[in-house]
Amino acid sequence: MTVELVGEGSGDDAVVRKRIVVVGGGFAGAYAAQALERRLGKRDDVEILLFCRENYTVFQPMLPEVISGTIGLTDVVTPLRRLLRRTHVHVREVESIDLQNKTVSVAAGFSAHTHVERFDHLIIAPGTVTDFRGLTGLPEHALPFKNLADALELRSRVIRALEEADVESDHPELRRQLLTFVVAGGGFSGVEVVAELNDFVRRVAKLYRRIDPRELRVVLVHAQDRILPEMKPKLGAFAQKILRRRGVELMLGYRLHAATGASALLSGPDGVVSVPTRTLVSTIPASPHPLIDSLALPKTRNGRLLVDGTMRIQGREDLWALGDCASVPTRDGTPCPPTAQHATRQAQLVADNIARVLGRGGGGGAVPLQTFNFQGLGKMGSLGRRNAVAEIFGISISGFLAWFLWRTIYLAKMPGWGRRLKVATSWTLDLLLQPELVELRLGSSGGAIHEHFEPGQRVFSEGELGDRVYILLSGRAEVVRRRTNDAAVAGDGEQVLAVLGPGECFGEMALLDSAPRNATIRCLEPMTVLSIPKREFGLLAANVPGLRASFEQVTARRLSQGLLQ
Ligand SMILES: Cc1cc2nc3c(=O)[nH]c(=O)nc-3n(C[C@H](O)[C@H](O)[C@H](O)COP(=O)(O)OP(=O)(O)OC[C@H]3O[C@@H](n4cnc5c(N)ncnc54)[C@H](O)[C@@H]3O)c2cc1C
Repeated sequence: MTVELVGEGSGDDAVVRKRIVVVGGGFAGAYAAQALERRLGKRDDVEILLFCRENYTVFQPMLPEVISGTIGLTDVVTPLRRLLRRTHVHVREVESIDLQNKTVSVAAGFSAHTHVERFDHLIIAPGTVTDFRGLTGLPEHALPFKNLADALELRSRVIRALEEADVESDHPELRRQLLTFVVAGGGFSGVEVVAELNDFVRRVAKLYRRIDPRELRVVLVHAQDRILPEMKPKLGAFAQKILRRRGVELMLGYRLHAATGASALLSGPDGVVSVPTRTLVSTIPASPHPLIDSLALPKTRNGRLLVDGTMRIQGREDLWALGDCASVPTRDGTPCPPTAQHATRQAQLVADNIARVLGRGGGGGAVPLQTFNFQGLGKMGSLGRRNAVAEIFGISISGFLAWFLWRTIYLAKMPGWGRRLKVATSWTLDLLLQPELVELRLGSSGGAIHEHFEPGQRVFSEGELGDRVYILLSGRAEVVRRRTNDAAVAGDGEQVLAVLGPGECFGEMALLDSAPRNATIRCLEPMTVLSIPKREFGLLAANVPGLRASFEQVTARRLSQGLLQ
C-alpha cells in the first residue's frame, strides 16, 4: 500500500497555493465551492478542491417526484462539473480527517492505495445519514429516502410489487403484502413521499388486469396526533384531509417499531399491530454522519458540529462546517433547522468569510467576519396533484395556490437553465401523458442479505421451491412438518422436528437436491438470518473446496435424525 500526499503546488512548485478543501457536494458543499469560485476563483495563489461521493448534486425537494416519474430520473441532479468550473472536483468518499496534520484521507478508487490531501481551510459539509441500526428489522427491510438511489430503488420496488401482485392472483396473503405500501414519518419528506407514491400506484394500477384498485392500501404512519408538526395546525389538518380524500390511510399515534420482509410492526395505543407489506419506507430523523462522529470536535447532543455564527468550528481558525451536519446559530441564538434554504445561505457566508480570512494577497485579512442571520422565508410541502401547503413570511396558504408557488419557487431555485427547462417540460408532459411505468432493475438482484423475522412468521413453507439457503445469526426457529402418525404435535396437524439456534443453517437440502422444501421453518424468537440466493450458493458450493461436502454432511445427519427441510 502506498500513501500519496498530493497537492504541494501541483507541478508549479514556485507557488504553494492556499488550499480550500470542501467535503460534500450537496446544497452546503457545492454551493460553498461555487461561492468561493466567485470570490477567489481568479486568484492563482488559492485552489479549491471538492470531494463528493457522487459526481452530482441532488435537488432533494423534488426527489419525491422521481417516484411517480413526474420528472425524469436525472432531472433532479446536476453534474458537479457543470456547476463548478474552477474547482477540482474529486468523486471520492472522504474516509477520515486528520485535524492535527491538516489532511483528509479518501477511499480507494480502482487502485487500492491510500490517497491523502492537505488543506489550509477545510469546509465540512457531508450532511447526515439515515441510520436504521438498533431498530429491529429496519436495516434489513426498510428503505430510506434521501438520495437519487433511494428514490430509484423505491420506484422499482413499487412497480415490482404491482407486477408480482398481478401474477399472484391465488395467494391473498401475499397480494395483501404486495399491494400495501407503508411510509413511516409524517414530516415534510414522509408526506411528500406518500403523496407521490399514492398518486402513482393509483394511476398505474388501472393497467394491471388482475389488480382491483380497491385492493391498494397506502399507509402513512406518524407518532404524533397530526402530520406536518413543523407547520401551523390548520395546514397539517388540510394536508390530512387531502391525503385521506385521495385514499391514504393515516395511522396517527403509531410508531414504526420493527419490520420483517412481509410486515411493518407498529406500536400504538392498542399495543403492537402488524401491517402486511413488502414496501416500507422510513423517513425517520437523520443521524450524524460517521465522519463527523469520528472527529474530536465540539458537538451538540444530537451529534451536529458546533460552530459559531461565522461558521467556524469553536477553537479552530481553519475548520468550517455548515449544512445539515452543523449546528449554526442565528443571531437570536437558536440553531438553524436542517433545510436547503439555510444550507445555501450558509454556503454564501462561509465563502465570504474564508475570502476575508485569506485577504487580498493571501495573507491574513484584518476584515471582521460576518455572522449568519437568516431566519428562513417559510416552509412548503407538496401534496401531489395540484395541492400543497405553504407558510410564507408567516402567511398560511394551501391548495392550488400553494402548489403553484411550490413549483414556481423550486423551479427558480434549480441550478442552471437546462435543468429548469427539462423539469418544466416534464411537468407539462405529465399533464398530457400517462405516467411512465418502466421498471429499472439496476445491478444484480443477487448477493447475501440480512433478513429479520418475528415470532410466528414463516421463513419458507413445506412444498415451496428452494430458492435460498439461510444461516441463523440470532434468535430461534422451529422446523415443522405436516403431521404424520408420530407424537410431538404442535397444533394444526404439525409436527416439530427440531429447534434451530444461532450458527445453524437451513434450507440447503432443497438447493443441493433441487427438490421442493420438505419442511417449514417458523420463527420462534425474533431472529436475524443471513440469506444466500440459490445462484450464489451454487457458485460457492461448486468453487469453495469442502463447502459442498460440509453441507452434504449436515444434510446426511439431518436425514439420519429424521429432520427434513
Ligand atoms: C426528500 C427530502 C426533501 C427535502 N425537501 C426540502 C425542501 O423542500 N426544502 C428545504 O429547504 N429542504 C428540504 N430538504 C432538506 C435539504 O435537502 C437538506 O437540508 C440539504 O440537502 C442539506 O444540505 P447538505 O449539503 O448539508 O447535505 P446533503 O444535501 O445531504 O449533501 C451532502 C453531500 O455530501 C456527500 N457526502 C457524504 N459523505 C461524504 C463523504 N464521506 N465524502 C464525500 N462526500 C460525502 C453526499 O454525497 C452529498 O453530496 C429535503 C430533504 C429530503 C431528504
